[in-house]
Amino acid sequence: MRTRRTIAAALSVLALTAVAACGKEAAPASDTTAKLPTYTVKTDAKVEGSKTFDEAKKRGKLIIGAKADQPFLGFENVASGTREGFDIEIAKMVAADLGFGPDKIEFKTIVSANRETSISNGQIDYYVGTYSITPARKEKVSFAGPYYVAGQDLLVLKDKAEYTGPESIKGKKVCSATGSTSVKQIEKFAPVMPVTQYDTYAACVEKLLSDEIDAVTTDDAILKGFAAKNPGKLKVVGKTFSQEPYGIGVSKDDAAFQKAVAAALKAHEDNGDWKKAYDATLGLSGAAAPEIPALTN
Ligand code: GLU
Repeated sequence: MRTRRTIAAALSVLALTAVAACGKEAAPASDTTAKLPTYTVKTDAKVEGSKTFDEAKKRGKLIIGAKADQPFLGFENVASGTREGFDIEIAKMVAADLGFGPDKIEFKTIVSANRETSISNGQIDYYVGTYSITPARKEKVSFAGPYYVAGQDLLVLKDKAEYTGPESIKGKKVCSATGSTSVKQIEKFAPVMPVTQYDTYAACVEKLLSDEIDAVTTDDAILKGFAAKNPGKLKVVGKTFSQEPYGIGVSKDDAAFQKAVAAALKAHEDNGDWKKAYDATLGLSGAAAPEIPALTN
């Protein structure tokens, strides 16, 4: 009896590990989508004095900037044509409070380097995609948040025991995304060969898998997703060397809209949606749910 129970327990652990390792794509759709919360769409939403809101209402949909290559965070499932991940859920919960259901959202893929411009020229209404709140960016855009705090880390091939932290990659070939905080910080922490830069982290991961570079560096939350998608091949070093407070990027010229987005975020953190969304997305990459940071923007 005892043995049978032990075997059953071991099997269920294995099954859970398999789901965590394979992530959403490989798991049967019902396994993960069932746990995603749905958000009540407000029918009487109003944002007094907001140009962004008025224009979205007039066009009948919200246009939200997001990432498309970051598993468990902002990922476009090309086969099903859907977007999935924690950032996508954050985008949706805020949209619901503004009166826009999932069928009234158009996601636009915007890479790290193009975020400020796409927000300030009105190409998108807001942006949700591992977007660190920094003083330099606040000169150009406003933020609502933080809704999560990540830390910069390193992703390396699993058998590379010599990589233990930023100091261990001095003089090595490191890859990151153009326009990210990660590029600047790695140059500060460890003089590396000129950082190889691509538009996306997915492009860096390809170069790591083919052993053309030594490490990918960016937020641990992003790297854990890639590691979970490539079990047995990649690992996150696990020694963070920065704080990356994620915010929702909005226009600097629309204080009313920024306030409404921050209020919506707070409401969904308080009613448990944040935690449910986290567990059904980023939590599957193996990162335990952290404390929700207090909003400062
Ligand atoms: N959070 C960092 C940043 O905003 C790195 C991740 C990214 O590029 O999205 O630059």
